Amino acid sequence: MAYHTVVFGPINSRRFGISLGVDLSPNIKQCNFDCLYCELGKENERVSKQISKVSKEQIVYDILEALNKFKDIDVLTFTANGEPTLYEDLNELMELFQPISIQRNIKTLILSNASTIWMPNVKNALLKFNKVKLSLDCATNRCFQQIDRPMRGIRIDHIKDGIKSFSYEFKGDLYIEILFLDNINNSYIEIEELNKTLLSFNNITRIDIGTVERPPAYSVRPITYDELYKISTMFDRSLPIYIAKKQDNENFKGSLTKTELLHTLSLRPLTRYDIGSLFDFQTIENFNILLIEGLLDIKRVGNVEFYQPHQYKD
Ligand code: SF4
Repeated sequence: MAYHTVVFGPINSRRFGISLGVDLSPNIKQCNFDCLYCELGKENERVSKQISKVSKEQIVYDILEALNKFKDIDVLTFTANGEPTLYEDLNELMELFQPISIQRNIKTLILSNASTIWMPNVKNALLKFNKVKLSLDCATNRCFQQIDRPMRGIRIDHIKDGIKSFSYEFKGDLYIEILFLDNINNSYIEIEELNKTLLSFNNITRIDIGTVERPPAYSVRPITYDELYKISTMFDRSLPIYIAKKQDNENFKGSLTKTELLHTLSLRPLTRYDIGSLFDFQTIENFNILLIEGLLDIKRVGNVEFYQPHQYKD
């Protein structure tokens, strides 16, 4: 099989800056889940560790070569055609790469399905990153089995306990991502369980909630942006919920007066991007007037700015 470099990009990410991607499974999809919404297609054979593997020396070589070509990289995003923590030498790879990232002032981010975070060697590897983003679509076993379709033996309780323990040790930015699917994890019971679980974690930088936006592996339906917004108000106010939306939806643009907008922001602080995506031109004008009138405060969560009514106390 021809060797493909593990590096791709750079991509200008709104949230993380200029990012260079590192694909730890460049040749074939290797994952221990078979998620209904996977953009990489259906999984014929789930694996617990990588079968096709690139050496850590080759990965570091590819990264250095790319860094010499592309200057001003802010972050290196470790991902995979599948699940990146199935790369067995991840801890050793980070031992090799950490000094380079410190010397060049490049942050490291990994995107994981969290299935292996309870394993000591994986946890040690993830602790070496500056930013870790973990998926957690469900907090109940029934829902987890239905959406993420894990390999036999992977348990949601292990994942939840693993994230909790990791969150108390990790000093970097920890992000959680939840993808909502219609009629599966958008029920009151599932959201309540997710809420309880998220409240047990420590110091979460941001929780991104979203829905399917690209062709999924199986026939599943996204929820509407309206519902996504309603779900965001069902979580505890102390949780830094952020509505992740890649494309604006012109079909759903609400219109709010200044008073209605203040009320909405008191229920759930929103970003400027959320307001632009959710509401029409007049509402954006009202938002700008509220800003000029000094009626809104900015609440920073990581590098994202949320707006809420002035002197609103959580
Ligand atoms: S964990 Fe990611 S790569 Fe694996 S099946 Fe799910 S969406 Fe696809």
